[in-house]
Amino acid sequence: EIAYYQNKFIDVDSPALPIDERGHQFGDGVYEYIRVYDGTPLFLDEHLDRLEKSAAEIKLTLPYRRDEITGIIYEGIKRSSLKEAAVYFQITRGIAPRNHSFPNVKAVFSMTVKKATIFTDEARTKGISVMLRQDERWANCFIKSLNLLPNVLSKQEAIEKGYDEAIFVHEDFVREGTSCNVFMVKDGTLYTPPATRHILHGITRKAVLDCAREYNIPVREQAINTTFFKNCDEAFITSTSIEIMPIYSIEDQILPKERPVTERLYSAYQNFYKQEV
Ligand code: PLP
Repeated sequence: EIAYYQNKFIDVDSPALPIDERGHQFGDGVYEYIRVYDGTPLFLDEHLDRLEKSAAEIKLTLPYRRDEITGIIYEGIKRSSLKEAAVYFQITRGIAPRNHSFPNVKAVFSMTVKKATIFTDEARTKGISVMLRQDERWANCFIKSLNLLPNVLSKQEAIEKGYDEAIFVHEDFVREGTSCNVFMVKDGTLYTPPATRHILHGITRKAVLDCAREYNIPVREQAINTTFFKNCDEAFITSTSIEIMPIYSIEDQILPKERPVTERLYSAYQNFYKQEV
C-alpha cells in the first residue's frame, strides 16, 4: 500500500490534509478509481479522458500534465508492490481559507494504491440484491465529483434494509446504482439506460457494450422503467471494482437463475485483462 499527497509518496496512514483543503470542506474536486491487473492499470486512457472532462466541467485546472499523472500512477503501483490493486486518486481545488468562491491556488492531487477487492466465484454466482431508491442527486451526475452524500446515504439505506445495493430511479425510470451502472437482458437483447447527464458514463459500462457488439448481442441504450426492470430475464451492475455482478433480486422480485448473456459478457470482459493461456 502507498499514498501520494502534495508531490510526494507517503504512507497511507500518515496525516496529510491541511484543515483548509477544499476537498474535505466542500467536496470541491473530482476523482477516478482504476483497477490494476497483474501490475497494469486497465483502461488508463479512458479514465484520464474522463478525469479531464470532469475537471473541465467544474472549471478545475489540473495540477499536473497527463503524462505526469500517468507517471505518478505507475510509480505508485511500483512502490505498492501490488499486482492486483486499486488506484484511487482525486484532485481538489486546493488549500485556501474557507470561502465558496474559487481561490487562486494550485489544485491538489492525492492518491492511494491499495489491494483490490477480489470477489469469489461463489459471490458472483449468488449475485446481489437491490432496492429501488428515488434519485435525489443533482443534474450533473456524469461528472465524477467528490460530492457523494446521496450515494452514501442511499447505499447505507440499502444495507440497513437488508439489500446489497440501491438503484436510483427518477419518475419511474431506472438510472444507475450508488457506485455502478445497471444493465438488463430481455429476450436476448441487452438494455442499459442512455449515457445522459444523469448517470456516470462508466468505463466498465462502455467496455460491456463493446463486448456485446462484438458478440452480436443486440444492444439498446434506452430509458427503462421499473416494471420492465423487474420483469427482465437477467440483470447486472458494472463498475471498475465489481466488474460485472449479477442481480438476483429487485426488491421482492426474484430473477431467473440462468444468466446466459451475463455469463458470456463476463467471460468476454475478462479478455481485457486476462493473459492468454
Ligand atoms: N456510476 C456511479 C455513480 C459510480 O460511482 C461508478 C463508479 O464508481 C460507476 C457508475 C461505474 O463507473 P466505472 O465503470 O467507470 O467504474
